[in-house]
Amino acid sequence: MPAVLSETDFLIIGAGVAGLRAAIELAPAGRVLVLAKREVTDSSTQYAQGGIAAALSDEDEISLHLQDTLAAGDGLCNPDAAKVLVEEAPQCIEELISWGTQFDRDGTKLTFGREGAHSRNRILHAHGDSTGREILRALFAKAKTLKEISVREFEFSIDLVVESGRVCAVQVIDEHGQHRTIHASAVLLATGGMGQLYANTTNPSVATGDGVAMAYRAGAELTDLEFIQFHPTALYLKKAPRFLISEALRGEGAHLRNMEMTRFMPKYHPMGELAPRDVVARAIMHELERSRAKDPVVYLDLTDLDAGHIQKRFPRIYSTCMQYNIDITTELIPIRPAAHYAMGGVRTDLHGHATVKGLYAAGEAAGTGVHGANRLASNSLLEGLVFGTRAGKKMRDELKAPANSVKDTPPAAAYSNGPVPLPVETTITQIQELMWKQAGIVRTGSGLKQAITSLEELDAQLSHAHNRREFEARNLRTNGLLVARSALAREESRGAHYRTDFPDHNDTKFLKHSVVAGDKISFS
Ligand SMILES: Cc1cc2nc3c(=O)[nH]c(=O)nc-3n(C[C@H](O)[C@H](O)[C@H](O)COP(=O)(O)OP(=O)(O)OC[C@H]3O[C@@H](n4cnc5c(N)ncnc54)[C@H](O)[C@@H]3O)c2cc1C
Repeated sequence: MPAVLSETDFLIIGAGVAGLRAAIELAPAGRVLVLAKREVTDSSTQYAQGGIAAALSDEDEISLHLQDTLAAGDGLCNPDAAKVLVEEAPQCIEELISWGTQFDRDGTKLTFGREGAHSRNRILHAHGDSTGREILRALFAKAKTLKEISVREFEFSIDLVVESGRVCAVQVIDEHGQHRTIHASAVLLATGGMGQLYANTTNPSVATGDGVAMAYRAGAELTDLEFIQFHPTALYLKKAPRFLISEALRGEGAHLRNMEMTRFMPKYHPMGELAPRDVVARAIMHELERSRAKDPVVYLDLTDLDAGHIQKRFPRIYSTCMQYNIDITTELIPIRPAAHYAMGGVRTDLHGHATVKGLYAAGEAAGTGVHGANRLASNSLLEGLVFGTRAGKKMRDELKAPANSVKDTPPAAAYSNGPVPLPVETTITQIQELMWKQAGIVRTGSGLKQAITSLEELDAQLSHAHNRREFEARNLRTNGLLVARSALAREESRGAHYRTDFPDHNDTKFLKHSVVAGDKISFS
């Protein structure tokens, strides 16, 4: 089938917080096309519960937000990026409010929640625990008022097209399996995270790290891929998705208990349940391993907290757990950790430039170094806003002549979006189980080597992808391999990356960011 050609000035892959925010910034400069591979509401942004951090309360200071961000990053934050994040936060939030975002208030005053590793109450939330949904609603509504912006759903990006060292187009398939090449002056990857690499994840099904794998194939550098954050508390029930049980509940005073009903966190960290996420996740894994139960869990206990307040403050968590017959105000919630957030991604500067011309990245798909080795809770919606705005500004300033000489670019294969063959689902499950076991919360050199060997062997099966799911499987395999190789190269433990064979920091060798460039991994 011949490729259908189309063109735009700016092409944004991803309609979450980063993509939509960038689109709004770009609209005054030309036509902006935003692609989402499913509905716009199917993104991590839509699922974000707890909130968005900004030093806006009377007791807070930008310098304290910076200090907390740097401390969570365990020595590895890019201080310039972290400074940009916290300094530009208040203005970005005020802009969101002016576009209609309804954050929760007490009378007219904004209310601020507290989350792990924050030294102040600085988390804005909306409708209790539906912050991401509200931000996405407001951004999408704003984007719809701008005639230059078009948003296309169910349009799956396969690969970037590079000509003379510059990204000039993207190959996509639409929901009817139609093959298309879209030419643009500049392309922004805002494809979100890669939580679907793991058997247990809080991430939606779209989070297969497509943008990172596409950038890699186009020759762009990637960074910090070994740093995957595991959320300590996801609902653990057979046949139920790993629904996130927000950290904000622990901020309100909920406790973790093991199967003997003992509160265990104070034994692991002086901050108890409010210790950094990686510490809590590892403590839970340790408790699970020492339990003799066949299918062990730990529990989150809110039963001492005020029931009315919990229902009002966390309506979504309350109603979701009720669907599974758990009344969180009177019963314990069974939980386990789950893959949650990718600190690394496509290596960019502070304006979203990737290392290939014409290519930009923002949001969870990007690696600015802002989160270092571990992200501070509620800093990622903010990252999408701040760096989405910045990338949009830069693309606008650097606009080349509009893409008016559209050439046909032959498709790499005959693509279709047809029914999903069973083997691809088996392969994806295989990758997810392998990554969970060998490249998950607790890692070893030998486990990582096994993961790499197994993933390398999958290459032949995945090299002839034809439909969306097969392309996702190919991207998962690429990302899995690069995460495992980066984790093997980092012979130390830091932030979210923990190796039992190298349990300490090694600042002399590894107080640096990992950089993947083709087959090479270096530290700089
Ligand atoms: C359950 C959950 C709770 C969270 N809670 C919080 C919180 O309280 N506070 C906080 O700060 N952060 C939170 N996070 C993290 C935060 O939500 C994400 O990091 C952030 O929303 C990412 O935004 P994004 O714009 O980069 O990507 P997303 O919002 O994930 O958007 C990605 C977009 O890319 C599109 N896409 C992907 N691949 C392709 C492709 N091949 N072709 C076309 N389109 C594609 C998708 O369709 C989607 O539109 C949470 C995450 C989860 C999963």
